[in-house]
Amino acid sequence: MSQPLSLAELDSIPVDRLRGVGSKTKAGLAVLEVKTVADLLTYYPRRYVDRTNQTSLADLMVGEEALVLGTVERVESRRMRNRRTLVSLRVSDGTGSMNVTFFNQPWRAKQLCEGTTAAFFGKVDLYRNRRQMTSPVVDLVGNQTGRIVPIYPQSEKAGLMTWEIAGLVEEALRRCEQRGIEDPIPTGARRQYGLIDRHVAFGSIHVPETMPDVYRARTRLVFDELFRVQLTLLERKRELELHTRGIEHVVDGQLVELFEQSIPFDLTGAQRRTISEISADLSQSAPMHRLLQGDVGAGKTLVAVHALLVAVQGGHQGALMAPTEVLAEQHAAGVSALVGGMSIADSATLMGERPVRVELLTNKVKVAERRRIDTQLASGEVDVVIGTHALIQDGVEFDSLGMVVVDEQHRFGVEQRSKLRDSGRRDALTPDVLVMTATPIPRTAAMTVYGDLDVSILDELPPGRTPIETELVAGEDPVAAMWQRVLDEVEDGRQAYVVCPLIEESEKLDAASAEQTFEHLTSGVLSGVNVGLLHGRMSSVDKEGVMAEFRSGVLDVLVATTVIEVGVDVANATIMVIESADRFGIAQLHQLRGRVGRGSHASTCFLVVDDEETADSNARLEALVRTTDGFELAEVDLELRGEGTIFNDRQSGRNDLKLASLRRDRDWVARAREVAAQVVDERQIDKSESLRRELEWFATGRDDDFILKS
Ligand code: ADP
Ligand code: MG
Repeated sequence: MSQPLSLAELDSIPVDRLRGVGSKTKAGLAVLEVKTVADLLTYYPRRYVDRTNQTSLADLMVGEEALVLGTVERVESRRMRNRRTLVSLRVSDGTGSMNVTFFNQPWRAKQLCEGTTAAFFGKVDLYRNRRQMTSPVVDLVGNQTGRIVPIYPQSEKAGLMTWEIAGLVEEALRRCEQRGIEDPIPTGARRQYGLIDRHVAFGSIHVPETMPDVYRARTRLVFDELFRVQLTLLERKRELELHTRGIEHVVDGQLVELFEQSIPFDLTGAQRRTISEISADLSQSAPMHRLLQGDVGAGKTLVAVHALLVAVQGGHQGALMAPTEVLAEQHAAGVSALVGGMSIADSATLMGERPVRVELLTNKVKVAERRRIDTQLASGEVDVVIGTHALIQDGVEFDSLGMVVVDEQHRFGVEQRSKLRDSGRRDALTPDVLVMTATPIPRTAAMTVYGDLDVSILDELPPGRTPIETELVAGEDPVAAMWQRVLDEVEDGRQAYVVCPLIEESEKLDAASAEQTFEHLTSGVLSGVNVGLLHGRMSSVDKEGVMAEFRSGVLDVLVATTVIEVGVDVANATIMVIESADRFGIAQLHQLRGRVGRGSHASTCFLVVDDEETADSNARLEALVRTTDGFELAEVDLELRGEGTIFNDRQSGRNDLKLASLRRDRDWVARAREVAAQVVDERQIDKSESLRRELEWFATGRDDDFILKS
């Protein structure tokens, strides 16, 4: 066989087929999740020691950073008076020597025993007239000879040194030498983006000659990772479009026109654009599958209702699914208000029309009532149903479900999305789906997380909103001044939220903390005003009661946990105090802050932290003070926290990206998507064995949740 090796084939060869891998090494590699030759080849170095950049000890300059390769000549470990350990080394390289010290890292004495050769990277100081590095970065390099030494991620448990891993990788590469490694990326794309050959890339990332070689190899392999994801998503999307048939809605008609006329304000440009994007989808026979991204308050509801009414107008039904009961109830109230008084043609009635029927279906709905709604959904008497997960439970059947809106807020419920879509249509037509999210996601990340959806963005807030002022508050006097502001606003007839510190992922502890804050405030600064308490451990009835009191203005201040994060909408609330703000993430703070600034009065959000130091050093909080633009904040979040923030529930997606970073490689995400789109459009997969192999290999054994079951 002289055909080049595919990744699939390399993935079918267990590592112990390599020379030098016995059962112990095999077990060690398994700890690193390296089980096959493909795993090994994609176990990439964490960094490199570039010997061409190394300084000889004789030339070390005090005050500068340097990389030194040296041998440990003497090790000393001792306890200092403050009970901390001090490990000090003498390191030399034949031209000279230096001291290296570590505080409170007793294990260094063992790691760097006499005779060990290691690379030390750090700043050179002078201590008692000797050159010294304090806590430098250390890489054990063994006696690897290359000019650029790859340093592999190691783990204590695996018991494998970086040079052992390097040796195994080199052995694997040698074994690929004869047949070569297959390169499925179309030559045109490779040339367009200057991508080097895949086999060459594997060689250079593990055994580089120069650092520029490493960068070129990295780029190529990053592209591969992103391309596989995009190709998979776009193929799925195409399959779906090919094999499902949807309704060709008539987008303009009486009901929709009536609705547009009934809106008491002008639509924003973004709303208009989004509505026409959706309408274009709806009039096609391929089912819509679209994501509507829009910051809190951008006016998504209106866009969603517009789409629902298109379906209703054509004699179909609409469903809106929300993540929580509170939110479902709010949506129901909101939608009812928007379509209240509107009628739909019905030849069975005397007048030839009947009112549009909107129903709420949650688990709180009583059995008899629920049975009635179920029956009327099946008969088509209910036009729009709004609910929670109850909507996708067994027994809910529609007469003709035409439009599904899923409000994900900031949860990514892929599963649920697909289930509602499948839920009982009597004909074989697939309903159109609009997914709404209030969590802005940077474009490139959206392409990866929601890559199977078309995306509409509401990036414009309705006019007339006064932007929320955000202030960082730390220290006794500023905190006192802040409470005075709260009291002043209450005096003026406004209302305020106080969000309690997030203790941990425990409703019980959060509730306790909220109760404590409540006690503290009501017996102190807020003793003269009406304060309510809201947390997740309260019964729904109590929660509703408190919310109703706050909405009606009976309560001036609402002390709450993050339960108010979504859906609470009280235009008269103009102040939000967030205690221990540094414990929250950017997205969550932004979401919380969105609870105020909903009316015409100027609003303020106070981010309270324990001390000024926290305030000064917190880039997240600074970003929140600087901007209220959710997309900008999402970029900052990605910058600061990395991909984890996005993938969250989709960990598997992350594992597919070993080298690529949605942040650093954002340009490559777009390029990979472009190439993948071209491959899909031109049906290159049908013509290329290697592309098909790559795709199949990537798709098998992967978490279904990532390969979106749409
Ligand atoms: P989102 O769901 O995106 O957070 P909503 O749809 O709840 O936002 O809208 C927030 C508020 O803005 C609502 O009170 C809504 O009536 C109002 N609104 C929506 N669109 C406009 C507009 N074009 N002009 C003025 N107000 C609007
Ligand atoms: Mg909303």
